[in-house]
Amino acid sequence: MSTFSAPRGTYDLIPPDSADFLAVREGIAAPLRRAGYGYVETPGFEQAELFFRGVGESTDIVTKEMYTLTTRGGDELALRPEGTASVLRAALQANLHRGALPVKLWYSGSYYRYERPQAGRYRHFSQVGAEALGAEDPALDAELIVLAADAYRSLGLRGFRLLLNSLGDKECRPVYRAVLQDYLRGLDLDEETRARIEINPLRVLDDKREHVRKQLAGAPVMSDHLCEGCKGYHEQVRELLVAAGITFEDDATLVRGLDYYTRTTFEFVHDGLGSQSAVGGGGRYDGLSEMIGGPPLPSVGWALGVDRTVLALRAEGVRPAPAAPPLVYAVPLGEEARRTLFGLVTQLRRDGVAADFAYGGKGVKGAMKAAHRSGARYAVVLGERDLAQGVAQLKDLQSGEQRPVGLEALAGELTGRRE
Ligand code: AMP
Repeated sequence: MSTFSAPRGTYDLIPPDSADFLAVREGIAAPLRRAGYGYVETPGFEQAELFFRGVGESTDIVTKEMYTLTTRGGDELALRPEGTASVLRAALQANLHRGALPVKLWYSGSYYRYERPQAGRYRHFSQVGAEALGAEDPALDAELIVLAADAYRSLGLRGFRLLLNSLGDKECRPVYRAVLQDYLRGLDLDEETRARIEINPLRVLDDKREHVRKQLAGAPVMSDHLCEGCKGYHEQVRELLVAAGITFEDDATLVRGLDYYTRTTFEFVHDGLGSQSAVGGGGRYDGLSEMIGGPPLPSVGWALGVDRTVLALRAEGVRPAPAAPPLVYAVPLGEEARRTLFGLVTQLRRDGVAADFAYGGKGVKGAMKAAHRSGARYAVVLGERDLAQGVAQLKDLQSGEQRPVGLEALAGELTGRRE
């Protein structure tokens, strides 16, 4: 072991497990590409102010969990704690909102939150996200939800549930907020929670502590206070989801940890994950663009946690990326054999055959052991006598059967055996 280890709350992705992460990222991205989402990549850090304004100054993410830094030049930056504010910032900067709408984008990357590390909760984690900017259309909300659900299904995940809610808009939300505040002020709550009632009362509904939960049982819910516009919109989203065969649960307490959501809000949860059950979530954020200094741009999006999706798949015993061993493992005995087999391996790879090679000057015993360990189906062994006869020994590592094959015919023969 070296003197160093990965910082607390972070992890390294190491083979073979890392293959599952790649497969999950790819599995989430594939349905997005088919639905016309273009790839976007933004910097790992932004001006801290973007998140103060975009995520919300009363959220845990901004007040407690953001990694902020001052550069030598005096800029206040923050490692990105989430993707939406950055993607919207980038789209506005590139003037995408002046072109055809909606602008549909997807992304994949690392995010940073100074959280208390535990299983499924890291300080550095990985998300794939999607955002559809500049259209107020229930079909767009439904599209994104369907794409997320289809992504999970295509990966083999079964035990996830979709929770759905509407948070209203700038017309009905303030009315509900005041009603909720009145109710919450009458409860027996600690200082910090009382302060939250005044800044962001909806977040109090998200409190997971038992004594708080009990008192919240009779709290007024947004769904009883939606204006006609929001009610109609939400009903359409629900109908489109039903028509697409997506099962969901209406959850009046679903508020999520970011301030920018309006109307449609949703979360995917998995029951095999313990307390960190959210595998993904998102919603509509019609006011966010204006909050960061842009024009009105009603939008909707989600982010799915790659780490937790991997954990959820493991909890269900699903391997998204079964090990892909090489077809061929080359074992050269001697210098000239080494040159010949190196050429064979190169050619096989160029022809699309997965092949590996006994590097490091191993003896025949060590090399054969490495061939077995690699999981390859065939070993090609080339000794001096073989070379003199213009053949190599082709060994089937499953049956143990071995026979000489002419060097000229070898590549063609192996390419033909590709599964
Ligand atoms: P959020 O932006 O908080 O809604 O996060 C979206 C998704 O990212 C969540 O549903 C989780 O799957 C994942 N996620 C958020 N925070 C973390 C974290 N600290 N560690 C691992 N995954 C996370």
